[in-house]
Amino acid sequence: MRTPLIAANWKMNKTTVETENFIRSFLPLIKGTTGVDIIIAPPFTSLLSAAILIRATGVRLAAQNVFYEEKGAFTGEVSPVMLLDTGCSFVIIGHSERRQYFSETDEIVNKKIRTVRKNGLEVILCIGESLKEREDNKTFEVLDRQLSGSLDNITLDGITIAYEPIWAIGTGKTATPGQANEAHSFIRKWLDKKYGDIACKTRILYGGSVTPENVDSLMAEPEVDGALVGGASLKPDSFAKIVTGATKK
Ligand code: PEP
Repeated sequence: MRTPLIAANWKMNKTTVETENFIRSFLPLIKGTTGVDIIIAPPFTSLLSAAILIRATGVRLAAQNVFYEEKGAFTGEVSPVMLLDTGCSFVIIGHSERRQYFSETDEIVNKKIRTVRKNGLEVILCIGESLKEREDNKTFEVLDRQLSGSLDNITLDGITIAYEPIWAIGTGKTATPGQANEAHSFIRKWLDKKYGDIACKTRILYGGSVTPENVDSLMAEPEVDGALVGGASLKPDSFAKIVTGATKK
């Protein structure tokens, strides 16, 4: 079956010292925890400090973004080769904040996934609808469009999907477990239609105001394989509670 996966997306938070303090407090809290994969995605500037401290633990490192070229004249960008060099094994691609504030389209997301996979990093692909799209009954249409564009000519190995309804990100409004499972089921069927049997191995995470209080009920849903956690991943004890909550699956 699919091992639960809990990923922390710190967004633009934490200096290197704050990152180190977090990891030093967090690791003892999850000592001996098994049956769940754990990922931390600090900002670029903290990746190396995090990599050094989590080496020899089961915790894996992710970047929050990447560029789709391997090197060259792209001032300010970071390539998959550089992320590998820093100790990352995952990259979050297509987060709604990147789509909203940095005009990232499904075409750009697709180019990023291609280069990242070519370089052997795994991908957490974020998709999800806005409140207006949900109210207009367009959720499945949006998910279909984002999946088709992002996964064009991409094989499914090394891909995790994060369903993150935009209206639930950082708002304190969580999708109900039923709403999450319904969207995840749609995604699973979509993957199954495109890729066949291998789709049952793909992890589909839920993201949007996940907390220690609601993680159990979300994880109880059959199609929820884990969580991408923003705000509640910034404190070691709250993130550790979410991680241990996910082991009950
Ligand atoms: C996120 O940033 O991916 C996220 C889900 O944030 P939050 O948990 O704060 O809603």
